[in-house]
Amino acid sequence: MKFTYIFGPVFSGRLGHSLGLDLLGERICSMDCLYCEVGRTEELTLSRKPYVPAKDLLDELRRWRDEHGENLPDYVTLGGSGEPCLNSELDAIIKGCKQILPSVPVAVLTNSTLLCDPDVQQALLEADAVLPSLDSLIDKEFAKLNRPCGGVSAASVAECLMEFSKQYSGKIFLEILLSQGINDSQENLTLLKEYVTSLQPHRVDVTTLSRPGAFSLAQAVDPEVRKAWQTALSDCITDFTANGSTSHQHPAKETSPQADATQTATDNLADLPEQDRSAAKQRVLESLTRRPQTPSQLAIALTLPLSIVQQVLDILENEGSIYKSEPDRTATLNTDEPFYSCQ
Ligand code: SF4
Repeated sequence: MKFTYIFGPVFSGRLGHSLGLDLLGERICSMDCLYCEVGRTEELTLSRKPYVPAKDLLDELRRWRDEHGENLPDYVTLGGSGEPCLNSELDAIIKGCKQILPSVPVAVLTNSTLLCDPDVQQALLEADAVLPSLDSLIDKEFAKLNRPCGGVSAASVAECLMEFSKQYSGKIFLEILLSQGINDSQENLTLLKEYVTSLQPHRVDVTTLSRPGAFSLAQAVDPEVRKAWQTALSDCITDFTANGSTSHQHPAKETSPQADATQTATDNLADLPEQDRSAAKQRVLESLTRRPQTPSQLAIALTLPLSIVQQVLDILENEGSIYKSEPDRTATLNTDEPFYSCQ
């Protein structure tokens, strides 16, 4: 059966097999990042509302458990096509997830802008892992790259994240996304090193664009630059766990309803039963509805053979349901593969 707010499980570089929950339902965020993989923010806001009511979301999670309960994910990840902490029922959602799937840890992706709100802080204390992002400590870079709501500054976000970390006993996985010529400055690296040394997150993940961003101004940095930043910032953590993830995680949404239906040993789509062929098609199409991806990215996320993914993409492209992204938007993404998109 189809799910509206649940996606996955899909493979995520930082969380393993992650079942995504969409807390927004729409393109609502407190930032409008140049690099956002799901496009431009439609509603830029700091107002918290039950964008997706906890009851609707948790009813769906119960249904998912009843259908897939024998294959539990490594994490339930709260995200969406925007900032999940904008959902004013975050507290009930985290608690409900833990009740419905008691053995699965809950992770929350956040752009950190709402960490100053005491209600958000209180709700997040219940999560097992929080994945905040903070791309620059220099206001000019932060404003240019993340384009937040008025009144949000790099300094305020950094201060609130630090304050939250002092009361939080779960894991903090800090993400820093680098965009060429915007926040990859030496000055930013120096400030972030000092900050990470004080924050002492469980992990720091330096990423760069791996998919086309909302604006062509956002371009990936060279792999060597990303690696050098990763090493420099990891060295600031006393007990660092590296995971090698290079792909951007926020927003977290991925999709694969019927995740088990197309696990197969064959490389030929035509050899699959009709039901599995259409399940593979549906999963690829829904995943591309969320964000542009290459065949390899889809194969990893959906745990499908690459050849099956490529055959599905060819069919969808011939039908006119998807198209390849323009080369100028993908030129610096460190891949020769084309990106496919629905939008
Ligand atoms: S990348 Fe994350 S924080 Fe930035 S606009 Fe997209 S959803 Fe919002």
